[in-house]
Amino acid sequence: MDLLMHFTCLLPFVCLLIYTPLMPCPPSTTVGRPFLCEREREIERMEKSGTPRVAIIGGGISGLAAAKELRWLEPVLFEATDSIGGVWRHCCFRSTRLQTPRPDYEFSDYQWADRNDPTFPTHTEILEYLHGYATHFDLWRFIKLETKVVEIRFVGHGGTKTGFTDLWGDEGRPIADGPAWEVGVVTPRSNTVQWCKFEFVVMCIGKYGDVPNMPTFPRGKGPETFLGKVMHSLDYCMLDDEAAKSLMKGKKVVIIGYKKSAIDLAVECAEANHGGDGKPCTMVIRTLHWTVPSYSISGLPFFLFFSTRLSQFLHERPNQGLFRSLACHLLSPLRRGVSRFIESYLTWKLPLEKYGLKPTHPFVEDYASCQMAILPENFFAEADEGRIAFKRSSRWCFWESGVVLDDDTKLEADVVLLATGFDGKQKLKSVLPEPFRGLIVDSSGVMPLYRGTIHPLIPHMAFVGYVESVSNLHTSELRCKWLGRLLRGHFKLPGTEAMFRQTGAEIEVMKRTTRFYRRHCISTFSINHSDDMCEEMGWSSWRKRSWLAELFTAYNNQDYKDDESQ
Ligand SMILES: Cc1cc2nc3c(=O)[nH]c(=O)nc-3n(C[C@H](O)[C@H](O)[C@H](O)COP(=O)(O)OP(=O)(O)OC[C@H]3O[C@@H](n4cnc5c(N)ncnc54)[C@H](O)[C@@H]3O)c2cc1C
Repeated sequence: MDLLMHFTCLLPFVCLLIYTPLMPCPPSTTVGRPFLCEREREIERMEKSGTPRVAIIGGGISGLAAAKELRWLEPVLFEATDSIGGVWRHCCFRSTRLQTPRPDYEFSDYQWADRNDPTFPTHTEILEYLHGYATHFDLWRFIKLETKVVEIRFVGHGGTKTGFTDLWGDEGRPIADGPAWEVGVVTPRSNTVQWCKFEFVVMCIGKYGDVPNMPTFPRGKGPETFLGKVMHSLDYCMLDDEAAKSLMKGKKVVIIGYKKSAIDLAVECAEANHGGDGKPCTMVIRTLHWTVPSYSISGLPFFLFFSTRLSQFLHERPNQGLFRSLACHLLSPLRRGVSRFIESYLTWKLPLEKYGLKPTHPFVEDYASCQMAILPENFFAEADEGRIAFKRSSRWCFWESGVVLDDDTKLEADVVLLATGFDGKQKLKSVLPEPFRGLIVDSSGVMPLYRGTIHPLIPHMAFVGYVESVSNLHTSELRCKWLGRLLRGHFKLPGTEAMFRQTGAEIEVMKRTTRFYRRHCISTFSINHSDDMCEEMGWSSWRKRSWLAELFTAYNNQDYKDDESQ
């Protein structure tokens, strides 16, 4: 059976191997070099002027990568808290680990000291790595900790404040000629808002953390009715080990959610309840998602299925043309076959059916929306011991002693933990002014970001960290490199309509690939996304040393080291 599965899975790769010698290798491109000279004086002016003209907001991986790529502009990086690291500092539990292997969550020019260590790093190790990065590239001089941006005003376009004409300047120039944005900050030392003007702003305030996604309830059915304790995972992160354990030990705990945070919480709860007076915790699940036990499927490394050029050839990409559309259509059984192979393996390997945890949607839909959670080793062992229980319910509300499910089952609880996620878009809306606030998401609920970075209707501003893929660090860093070259004038942005055409095409592909498209994940066409950016930067888009490597090895940050020769 296993052998048959291996064969089914490898079939597409074999077919394409036979076919690939016929495919032309895209030539190294030199698109968009020209008007370097045109911009030289402006850059010189910026470099020489002592005052920062570019603000970066947020000191997580995206803000740090932006600071490094824009350091020639001497930016200022505002970080609300007392530390860099973002979610790895403020949004982790005792047990939180990176889900991505080390070499896939690594800056292109700053390797993990122990990059071949196969264990997934803890959040503390990630923070150490990020501190090392900031020190190595002397980024601390740009960083202003405990400086929270509370409001941003548009002051561009000669003060007309319309924002809708000459959006990116007459010539589509990304950096304004004068101040475009005024950024209001507060620090713990001063409660009055201080305002600073900038010609360009990079928003890196993160999709997760800071603003919890709180469920709403009809009157009388919300947390005010419940006599126990209700806590969002964000507040749980603030507890030290002892406080977290005593919150759950010997208590009836209900966890709402079934994504990575909920799963980690359930394991922490089960561990706190080992021993005689332990109580089981119950996960209340609305939508099931596929979970995987490790980074290999039936002995095959995971990247083979989705992260090589060959595996992504099976998937639709934006603007793919007639030939590829036809190929995609013909290859759709193989695409489904790969997904089914993984589903069969996971169903065989994990007790999903026993616990009613087998999703009805294809695995690829979770992968394409960056929702694949790696299970902690002991998750099902704890369930087998009766310390984790599962209940499905599309709706739920509180009663005085717990929660009520949609079939009127009443679950008793002392503590209800909400692992209901975060509202990153609300975080952006809370600082951006109108009319831009209202433009953040389009009618499909997705941020229309050209190259995952530029909103066509929000001038002189970039957004990093809002498009996800298998490694968000890779996704953010490459976009910062692209942004750095855009600001240097290595290439121009296309017009507003062309940018919208591109973002529209991406959103359509995501919609056709997964019902969870609002998460804005490009994991099934990430290489194509990077190819397009490389071409704009004047880099060769095929970045491996040989055809075989191009086809069968995964792309990660090491493939996108700065290409000084180009
Ligand atoms: C628990 C958890 C596990 C994860 N695991 C993985 C994984 O295994 N692999 C992976 O690829 N991704 C993972 N992610 C996704 C993760 O969010 C990204 O990998 C990445 O860390 C996001 O970085 P960021 O810089 O874009 O945002 P953040 O890390 O959220 O950083 C944003 C920063 O902006 C600051 N900020 C916010 N508002 C303001 C303001 N108004 N003024 C000033 N500063 C502000 C915040 O304090 C924060 O420091 C995980 C996320 C979570 C929550």
